[in-house]
Amino acid sequence: MELLALSAWKSIVCLFLFDHILLCFAPSILTRYSIMCADILISDICLPGKKGEKPVTDNCCIAITGDTLTYVGPAEGLQDTKAARVISGRKHLALPGLVNTHCHGAMTLFRGLADDLELTEWLNKHIFPAEAENVSPEMVYWCTKLAAAEMIMSGTTTVADGYFFEHEAARAFIDTGMRAVAAQAVIDFPAPGVPDPAKNIAAVEKFIDHWQGRNPLITPAVFAHSPYTCSNTTLQAAKKAATAAGVLLFIHLAETRHEQSMIEKPLASSPVKHLAALGILDADTVCVHCVWTDEHDLDLLAQHRSSIAVCPQSHLKLASGIAPLQSMLAKDIQVGLGTDGAASNNGLDLFREMDICAKIQKVRQQDPVAVPAESIMAMATTGGAATLGMDNHLGSLKKGMKADIILLNCNSAHLQPMHGRDILVYAANGADVQTVIINGKLVMEEREMLLFDIKETLEKVRNLAGQLHKSR
Ligand SMILES: [Zn+2]
Repeated sequence: MELLALSAWKSIVCLFLFDHILLCFAPSILTRYSIMCADILISDICLPGKKGEKPVTDNCCIAITGDTLTYVGPAEGLQDTKAARVISGRKHLALPGLVNTHCHGAMTLFRGLADDLELTEWLNKHIFPAEAENVSPEMVYWCTKLAAAEMIMSGTTTVADGYFFEHEAARAFIDTGMRAVAAQAVIDFPAPGVPDPAKNIAAVEKFIDHWQGRNPLITPAVFAHSPYTCSNTTLQAAKKAATAAGVLLFIHLAETRHEQSMIEKPLASSPVKHLAALGILDADTVCVHCVWTDEHDLDLLAQHRSSIAVCPQSHLKLASGIAPLQSMLAKDIQVGLGTDGAASNNGLDLFREMDICAKIQKVRQQDPVAVPAESIMAMATTGGAATLGMDNHLGSLKKGMKADIILLNCNSAHLQPMHGRDILVYAANGADVQTVIINGKLVMEEREMLLFDIKETLEKVRNLAGQLHKSR
């Protein structure tokens, strides 16, 4: 017994010494023997093949050190790696985490509350009154947490979120481990958290000041609701605040056919031209929707290098229309994919969004070749990251990029045989995502959320929904 204990102690001392020696002489040892130290090593994983090659390349490895990808490629290219954690990727495919370029996470509370309605009736008679009664810091925290859970479980690792009490939304994203561009809302009505609209710009400035550089998962931004809910003065002040802080400005734009008639003091003949006349359009403005845009509008957006977030399912459900995506892409406008809030979708699964986006574009153009699956997948990954100005570190699986990775189980009936990568757009769904890593940290493993209690979140949101029904 004592001998066994002595032997165990010897092993521990040896291991300690080995680690110590490795740390002391790390540079020379690592160079000489090509030993690589990683925090996480994903082994035996499939990677998407390059264009014109096999749809997937198997027997690959991904190494993560800190928040960064340090190796992505064939297993034979990575030898003698020492990793604190090894994950078997057998029969799984790794993709970059998906990027949702437009969402209102807290609106999960209103999912299914008012379906089958036209946008203005849906907003004015149902959503705005429900928000006036029910939006509180507690509601935003828990309902955003639910949204983050839904997005992580369906492969989204970065979201551009815009809402009221956005401090609470940012806190929810941090607690779930999700990356977010968090945008505080600006609107010319008494709003939750900002009852005096005269203070909406001061509130957004304070929000940005608080979050800039505070947490690697959170990038603050401005969300000016729309040209029909913000005066010209408010829009210009919101853009000035965004520019001064060097952050993005998001705005709902040209969503419905009637939007132009809803703008109080239009400066031009279309919502896009109105924003251009106000000086709102530039490379740091993300215009959400842009369904009702003609060639001149799109030329203006291209000239100003503004990005667009399209939300196909929300456009379909509210019968707003189908965005002219093919023309946007032909003009080299940066376009990302968004879900919008759960109240107008009603889900936050970007795989579902990709499938529908591709198909409705073919119907719009009466052309099955229009906007192929590859373009759609790019919109949900590299294009989404570029829409948010983050493509230098997000949206692709390459050495040096941030480690935002999703692992899909490919061994399911609807994903076999895998003749090509298009199957990921036309047949995969969020439930295929098994494991998610964000900023180098495991946040979901084998569909289990690791950083927070999902049952508690579901219970809190159910209670909030109960209170909502009592107040109606
Ligand atoms: Zn929206």
